[in-house]
Amino acid sequence: MTTTPARPTASVDLTLRAQNRGGAAAGCATTLLDAPWDVDARDPGYGPGASMDDAIPAAAPRQGEIPAEYREAGAEELDRRIRAAKAELGDRVVVLGHFYQRDEVIQYADYVGDSFQLATAAKARTEAEAIIFCGVHFMAETADLLSTPEQAVILPNLAAGCSMADMADIDQVEEAWEQLMELYADETAEQGAVGAEGEGLAPVIPVTYMNSSAAIKGFVGRHGGIVCTSSNASAVLEWAFERGRRVLFFPDQHLGRNTAKAMGVPLEQMPMWNPRRPLGGNDEETLQAAQVILWHGFCSVHKRFTTDQIDRARAEHPGVRVIVHPECPMPVVDAADEAGSTDYIRKEIEAATEPTTFAIGTEINLVQRLAAEHPQHTIFCLDPVVCPCSTMYRIHPGYLAWVLESLVEGEVRNRITVGPDVAEPARVALERMLAVRPAPVRPTAER
Ligand code: SF4
Repeated sequence: MTTTPARPTASVDLTLRAQNRGGAAAGCATTLLDAPWDVDARDPGYGPGASMDDAIPAAAPRQGEIPAEYREAGAEELDRRIRAAKAELGDRVVVLGHFYQRDEVIQYADYVGDSFQLATAAKARTEAEAIIFCGVHFMAETADLLSTPEQAVILPNLAAGCSMADMADIDQVEEAWEQLMELYADETAEQGAVGAEGEGLAPVIPVTYMNSSAAIKGFVGRHGGIVCTSSNASAVLEWAFERGRRVLFFPDQHLGRNTAKAMGVPLEQMPMWNPRRPLGGNDEETLQAAQVILWHGFCSVHKRFTTDQIDRARAEHPGVRVIVHPECPMPVVDAADEAGSTDYIRKEIEAATEPTTFAIGTEINLVQRLAAEHPQHTIFCLDPVVCPCSTMYRIHPGYLAWVLESLVEGEVRNRITVGPDVAEPARVALERMLAVRPAPVRPTAER
């Protein structure tokens, strides 16, 4: 018996409903089919899906109840209202949809891409007064950083955060930095001394993954650091090593470890920093010898992938091509045929000229969409359990209709803004990354 679906539908919602009707387990949580406003009304949490067991910070934004007309409207009515509001607003609004967003929302997106591609796309649409980001909180913040002050960036559901971004809390990061600066004080003194061993090199350069809060991007910008994406992480690490003896990498330990390992950094020189312990749980010698200090963060979507799943895919599909995202744990990346960003995965599938079987280790919405778009291939998710990103899943057409019709009435709901103290250094960190490698995106209509 095979554990692989014969041909997945594009919609994760429809898959879950079909499984539910057939009496099969409805994904990783029985509450996945609950209405999102019911989830909003419960105790704070990331919601059903991969991050549901992660600890949410007390200060995480919550979404208030939206009017009953949106909660009670059926799919057809919401579709009609969303299209009508978009048509009325015309170029005044642009809707962005992340690769991991559900199909029921993606169908209204003017652009579909990864977080940085979408923020860059928004930047090019200067005529749009409103940018509706159907993604998660840090993505909307990045779009706000890159858009003009006149443009309002809107997150349809404020509870759509990101558990991984939340794992790098700014207070904990500031505290870690203070400890490291104290430890490396001698090297800091050497840095400016001509002819000294460390001449010109900072003791440590902070590097943050795009999947982090604006506060962390601002911190990095203030301390000579840089932002990276999963597409350019090795180029960014090279940039950092030209300027510093070590890198402090957050929030995703797996992207940091997988990237540095591929560049030849030994594992014993990549200690992990646990923010709840003095010196991150390390001794001074380990931190002195470190090349990359990894923050204790992870993505609960990509943490679900295992080497057993890869073994099973290979046993059931001889010749299968296994591609995983670099946010997966190192043994999974090592066991896969390839590892790459969402954009890499998409392009590799598009470039395959012969019918191919692909087993993919990334978020289920993207995998099912790729399967539907490329019927000549067999494409399936390595994880047989349907378990979407919890927080992406908080966006539903009902919220999109609410923010769009509010705009028609002249009201901006759920605006995400980054204050100037944070925005200025955060932009510096993003500009440093842009100088390393840009990431273009095309409108959906041109794909
Ligand atoms: S897939 Fe992971 S990193 Fe991306 S938004 Fe969801 S929890 Fe965050």
